[in-house]
Amino acid sequence: MKVTDDRCSAVVLKVLFLGTPCPLCSFAGHVWVGGMEEEIIENIRDDFPRWSPEEGACERCIEAYRPPRLI
Ligand SMILES: [Zn+2]
Repeated sequence: MKVTDDRCSAVVLKVLFLGTPCPLCSFAGHVWVGGMEEEIIENIRDDFPRWSPEEGACERCIEAYRPPRLI
């Protein structure tokens, strides 16, 4: 795996296939969500600083990192 840390703002469009392991939990074959709420992204980044939304996440992770809205 290559880790690039350049600051160029080139947009890389990735095609996510069904069965691709989730970058967060490595669990394959769930729903990939394109757009997600800022709060979820921030919560995920607390645990996975190198993760970016373009990498996607499975539905389980989205649910796990969704902040509880109790107020
Ligand atoms: Zn996941």
